[in-house]
Amino acid sequence: MTPSPNLKQRSFSRLLSYIKPYRLGFIAAAIGMIGYALVDVYFISQLKDFIDIGINQKNTDYLRYAPIFIIVIFIMRGVFNFMASYCLNWVGTHVVQEMRQQLFRHLMHLPVSFHDQHSTGDLISKITYNTEQIKQTTSRALAVLIREGVFVFGLLVLMFWNSWQLSSIFLLIAPVIAVIVRFVSKRFQLLSKNIQSAMGEVTTCSEQMLNGHKVILAFGGQEIENNRFFAINNLTRRQDVKMEATRAISVSSIQIIASFALAFVIYMASFPEMLDSLTAGKFTTIVGSMMMLLRPLKQLTTINSEFQRGLIAADSVFQVLDQPAEQDTGTHVLTDIKGEICFDKVNFAYPGHENQVLHDVSFTAPAGKTIAIVGRSGSGKTTISSLLPRFYDVFDGDISLDGIPIKSCTLASLRQQMAVVSQHVTLFNDSIANNITYGFTEPVSAEKLQEVAEKAHVLEFTSTLKDGLDTMIGENGVSLSGGQRQRIAIARALLREAPILILDEATSALDTESERKIQSALNELLKNRTSIVIAHRLSTIENADSILVMEQGRIVEQGNHQSLLEQDGAYAQLYKLQFGTEQ
Ligand code: ADP
Ligand code: MG
Repeated sequence: MTPSPNLKQRSFSRLLSYIKPYRLGFIAAAIGMIGYALVDVYFISQLKDFIDIGINQKNTDYLRYAPIFIIVIFIMRGVFNFMASYCLNWVGTHVVQEMRQQLFRHLMHLPVSFHDQHSTGDLISKITYNTEQIKQTTSRALAVLIREGVFVFGLLVLMFWNSWQLSSIFLLIAPVIAVIVRFVSKRFQLLSKNIQSAMGEVTTCSEQMLNGHKVILAFGGQEIENNRFFAINNLTRRQDVKMEATRAISVSSIQIIASFALAFVIYMASFPEMLDSLTAGKFTTIVGSMMMLLRPLKQLTTINSEFQRGLIAADSVFQVLDQPAEQDTGTHVLTDIKGEICFDKVNFAYPGHENQVLHDVSFTAPAGKTIAIVGRSGSGKTTISSLLPRFYDVFDGDISLDGIPIKSCTLASLRQQMAVVSQHVTLFNDSIANNITYGFTEPVSAEKLQEVAEKAHVLEFTSTLKDGLDTMIGENGVSLSGGQRQRIAIARALLREAPILILDEATSALDTESERKIQSALNELLKNRTSIVIAHRLSTIENADSILVMEQGRIVEQGNHQSLLEQDGAYAQLYKLQFGTEQ
């Protein structure tokens, strides 16, 4: 889908608004470009006198002054060129930097549902590739437009000044050139749009390969991935070739048309009446100008399409920037809550999906108690835990903390009340200590850090490391096992001292051995907090104050371990199934 002209105009004026703060730099660049073009035109205009006065009249004074003139002209040209390139780049890099930063920031503020629906690779390529495209294309286009535009204009004036009869041929070929330019830029638009989305796919595909490297090795998927990447890679290449072909054809045809004009001029000059009015200098100036026109004409042909490319890239960035950020309309600031959680007839479907995932879910978790949720995978357990921090909003029913509807609270204060430990632990490329204190703006005391690290059994494995808690994790640090990562996540949650704790299958990635080890860390975490524990190993939740059994988005049973076993329903069945296999 190509954006409508209207939309493009808006993207253009929006792009200008980014340049606005740097307009002084832009003006300096424009002066540089205009100066450069005028110097060139002036140089050509001096050819006439050089030939007519200097060579033909053998005027040695004039010829002696010429070498100085050349050096001065080229020094000026160099200065103008530097000024133009430097300033334009200064403006361009500022604009890209700002746009990137904005995009980065905005992506963090977009709701979870946005990220669910967009591929990471595509978004990454917007941050890296598209923003760079905007800079390159628009600054190149602007440079050509101003510099070559002035140059062409200057040359035309010079030609008409010298002989308007010979130069008027240009009025004839100009419309033909315009038609070609129009056709070419249409084609370019389509191709560059294709290239941009193909680049997104290149990143998506690479990212998938890098993330899933182990799976690929294990299942021997190299060939499949290779072929997948080949197809995308080849598509990008083909678009690129098509683009270059269009460019080359258009440039050549314009030059051929221009050669007709040149031929015409020389033909006309052969008429005696014409020849009388021409001096050698004049003739050289006109022919020389015509030759000189070829290069800028060629560049001006593709400038519109360059602009379009930049605008399409800008438009795709603006589209993301225009996505509404998370709704944070609540005004209640939660502080010191006791931690009673109440779900009241909650119905929920993921945004953009038809299927209702939760049906009439109601339960209360009294402050300080532990509520466990069990059920088959896909029954909606994680969904319940994502609703509490308002990663998604429910469309029907209410969720409240201490009787306050969570919709009326500010997002920051709401999330401040919770600590989440899930199956997938996200650790940043930083030291273990910084990963534990992640999210704290003021420094955490060393004693406090030691204390939580001790309680979460992190010290157990860091004490053998040379740098202890300051050991770097990840690419150039240590690699941690699942259990070790999990313990860091628990320490992180402990440090947060939030009144509400959500454990989403926190231990299910671990074997029984490491699970037992971190179980005591977990028990530490559960103390004095309202906890929602999602687990599929029932042994870990036997002590919960209340257990909810979920089936296809509904709570089908509720009670403590003993009473549920006595009911002999879904829970009892799950229990028998597990202990039949585990013992
Ligand atoms: P559980 O944690 O019990 O395994 P989930 O709460 O993750 O189950 O999923 C419940 C249902 O919601 C499943 O049918 C799943 O396909 C669907 N679902 C989960 N996450 C999303 C999502 N981000 N977008 C759309 N549907 C989802
Ligand atoms: Mg889950």
